[in-house]
Amino acid sequence: MSEKKDIRSLTKEQLRDFFVENGDKAFRGNQVFEWLWSKGAHAFDDMTNVSKETRSILEQNFVINHIEVDSKQRSSDGTVKNAVRLHDGLIVESVLIPTGSRTTACVSSQVGCSLDCNFCATARLKKMRNLNPDEIYDQVAAINKESIETYNRKLSNIVFMGMGEPLMNYNNVLKSIEKITSPEGLGMSPKRITVSTSGLPKMIKKLADDDVKFNLAVSLHSAIDEVRSKIMPFSKAFPLEDLKESLEYWYEKTQSRVTYEYVVWDGINDTKEAISALVKFCKYVPCKVNLIEYNPIDDGEFQQANPDTINNYISNLEMNDIIVNVRRSRGKDIDAACGQLANKS
Ligand code: SAH
Repeated sequence: MSEKKDIRSLTKEQLRDFFVENGDKAFRGNQVFEWLWSKGAHAFDDMTNVSKETRSILEQNFVINHIEVDSKQRSSDGTVKNAVRLHDGLIVESVLIPTGSRTTACVSSQVGCSLDCNFCATARLKKMRNLNPDEIYDQVAAINKESIETYNRKLSNIVFMGMGEPLMNYNNVLKSIEKITSPEGLGMSPKRITVSTSGLPKMIKKLADDDVKFNLAVSLHSAIDEVRSKIMPFSKAFPLEDLKESLEYWYEKTQSRVTYEYVVWDGINDTKEAISALVKFCKYVPCKVNLIEYNPIDDGEFQQANPDTINNYISNLEMNDIIVNVRRSRGKDIDAACGQLANKS
């Protein structure tokens, strides 16, 4: 017997067609679609306004793959980390980050990561597979539920800054965002979603061509090729000149400001030259810089630079009218902060 198909890989159209082919009304497809997405049904028997016969036809043809929250850790700062189990037993992590009036979900796009950033714990796991659109969507839905239960408010923002490189799982990430933003899904505004990439020029251009409405963040960390390719070895194949060109293309098409993520480390990018290179890079397209606090991952090869150096960055950027924010990290005590997601538990 052939393996049953995951019903959530079907579009609404395909689901409607399935019912017509089985002698039912197309409208049934809409009902079931709603159960699968906005109502989050885990079993066909949950679909109470669908007849027993129909449910049994569905049962014969499909499965509903669903993530399960395997374990939960709570940080003293209110951050919650979910380890979620996928239908094939693999685990990824997602994080709920409450700050002021916001609650942000940080979600994973791959199991492990294809890239090799030396400062990131996820890079030490091999990439095992891409997540499906529903597996990404489910992480967001689970965090949204958690947010309502714990903080009495819905999620306000989503960042694709968990495990994996979103633009190396391009189609599935875009499909998940389609569901997250659709009224049948979570109905969130794309303006509240940020996709973070390590900087793959071709894919950034593709985003621009696809006219996406979410925000783009690029993990820059250095605006000097030799330095960047040392700490992010994959970037040897993607020189900053190409990255710059792709960002100009992005801005021209979308008119949307880019965020650069940047960690300042001792002995790596703590020089005057490093600062000038960043200032120069920031002039190519309208942008803002998030200076991220470094979350040590183990051996001490990387050390966050001292406050004077960071203040130097801030004053130089501000002198040049570049917006800069300092991002304190959250959830460090439970290994939930940027770059710490590595399925430790
Ligand atoms: N692959 C994507 C998204 C995942 S990483 C990307 O590279 O953007 C999310 C952010 O965390 C990136 O900006 C990344 O550079 C940063 N990061 C990785 N390891 C970190 C660490 N140990 N401390 C602080 N930030 C880290």
